[in-house]
Amino acid sequence: MAQPLSTQSQGVTLADLPKSWTYTSSLPPDKRFPTPATSHKLPRDQIGPREVRNAAFSWVRPEEQKDPELLAVSPAALRDIGLKPEEAKTEDFRQFVAGNKLYGWDEEKSEGGYPWAQCYGGFQFGQWAGQLGDGRAISLFEATNPETGQRYELQLKGAGLTPYSRFADGKAVLRSSIREFVVSEALNALRIPTTRALSLTLLPHSKVLRERVEPGAIVLRFAQSWIRLGNFDIFRARGDRTMVRKLSTYVAEEVFGGWEKLPGRLENPENPTESAPPKRGVSATTIEGEGDAAENRFTRLYREIVRRNALVVAHWQAYGFMNGVLKNTDNTSVYGLSIDFGPFAFMDNFDPSYTPNHDDHHLRYSYKNQPTIIWWNLVRLGEALGELIGIGPDVDDPSYIADGIKDEQEASLVARAEKLITQAGEEYKATFLEEYKRLMTLRLGLRTCKESDFQVLFSDLLDAMENLGLDFNHFFRRLSNIHVADIATPEARLEKASVFFHSEGPPPVGSSTARQTIAEWLEQWRSRVVEDWELDDDSSAKDEDRIQAMKRVNPNFVPRGWILDEVIRRVEQGKEREVLDRIMHMATHPFEDSWDGQTIDGVQWKGDAEEEQRWISDPPRTERAMQCSCSS
Ligand code: AMP
Ligand code: MG
Repeated sequence: MAQPLSTQSQGVTLADLPKSWTYTSSLPPDKRFPTPATSHKLPRDQIGPREVRNAAFSWVRPEEQKDPELLAVSPAALRDIGLKPEEAKTEDFRQFVAGNKLYGWDEEKSEGGYPWAQCYGGFQFGQWAGQLGDGRAISLFEATNPETGQRYELQLKGAGLTPYSRFADGKAVLRSSIREFVVSEALNALRIPTTRALSLTLLPHSKVLRERVEPGAIVLRFAQSWIRLGNFDIFRARGDRTMVRKLSTYVAEEVFGGWEKLPGRLENPENPTESAPPKRGVSATTIEGEGDAAENRFTRLYREIVRRNALVVAHWQAYGFMNGVLKNTDNTSVYGLSIDFGPFAFMDNFDPSYTPNHDDHHLRYSYKNQPTIIWWNLVRLGEALGELIGIGPDVDDPSYIADGIKDEQEASLVARAEKLITQAGEEYKATFLEEYKRLMTLRLGLRTCKESDFQVLFSDLLDAMENLGLDFNHFFRRLSNIHVADIATPEARLEKASVFFHSEGPPPVGSSTARQTIAEWLEQWRSRVVEDWELDDDSSAKDEDRIQAMKRVNPNFVPRGWILDEVIRRVEQGKEREVLDRIMHMATHPFEDSWDGQTIDGVQWKGDAEEEQRWISDPPRTERAMQCSCSS
């Protein structure tokens, strides 16, 4: 629940926000600009795309922007970064989020912390795509929230050309920036691990050519880490084993907070469910040198990344979210975040084959393929880390570090790496399934999960939803609102079944068959709820608790494609601005029954009751399961 204002932290100013440059001080820069000063001296228009080798990043500053217009800010983001709410109204803030004001860099002395773009590569559509990198994203600094101690890396997307821009222009259009701004904050409010967004800025003088000429924009986004699987791929592809090791060590020590935070050795590798969750806090020294199994610390790092990604996919599947361009290792986060939002979507009608990507004719990015695709990407990471994993207990042997593996070590190394990666695959499946079941159990309003629930409740429900064309997220919200007392008889269940259909009524399979299918499922569900909550004849108070618990996990609002399209149209053509605050407010408080007039976070919200109602109702018939192109 939201904290009352009085106990909320007040936040600090941008100037007082603690800043660091850990990524750039720990990893090697592009040799062409060994120091920030060498990059800063170069006129901005001389920075262009090229190959960058043996480096984790290039120093590069954002382009200057004329008359940036700050369109919207996420109050939740301000709070989580640790900034004062009033800070967002200052001139410094407006210039900062447009890339015009740098913090940390001393212009006169030509020294200090400086912005940078990451070097990474990636497999795209299953093929090696070479060097990619931050082609239009520029990181500014890491900020530590003084209250919570949480550190985030702040980054501008759409801030101009970098050495990694390849054939493109370094810009982002308003349309896709609105989508990223809203969805980042919406996913976070649904407790789905994700990168975040602080602000959306319109660049009034920027004209960006895509399928048509469009307005340009910048999103200030932030994350615990922007490192992707592709950051490892690039070094592996170039045979740069020193950098693979350096980056792994950086990720373990700086991103995950130390080797000792990584999962301990599996007790029973044959059956990862039995030992999940793995012991945490087992120090590296107890792990190293344990003979042939020798899961060394790099294996534990791999497993941490695998587990985090299993958790995020479980969330996507449980909430019907699709990234849209997943089979790209550059779009898979080491921290296990939803990242790089292009043609993403929340599912409308439940359809496992739905893909939000207009160009995805092979359904590579479809809902049902997401868990497999992420594992495919993680196997590529396993290959990048393969030598470090496979060398086992000899990973710190100086001759191995200096010269690599000897011929006679190769066979056992490959065998060990394969074994450990396969084992991590089992752990991925087990972690995914456990989390998916946990989330679905919560969504169905149950406190415990029985083995039989999987078939009787989950599978039968998903089959019914697919066959009857029911809306995935609406289903759970509407189910939340049903009192078990109201579905006690077959007649009552048949009648209640109607609430799950679209407003145009049940699908053409015949309304009585459709209602019958749902009524039968409701009967199963009702008996599980009664058992699980120990409801007796006189337990309306407990049932009310169950309803409240369900509403806290089943959103009333998700930013669907058609709603985002409407907002984009109104902002671009109608020059509306406040509609962005309203969608952001609903996206960041998705579990409310209504918003207009409600007091949330201690403030009475002035919304638009008619608009809210439309946005939580059935999607218009012609605007369901929309698809989106990749151009952004
Ligand atoms: P994406 O398909 O958005 O994940 O991007 C793939 C790669 O292309 C990344 O390295 C991006 O930084 C780069 N990229 C995409 N769009 C642009 C653009 N407009 N300007 C520069 N680089 C871009
Ligand atoms: Mg990407």
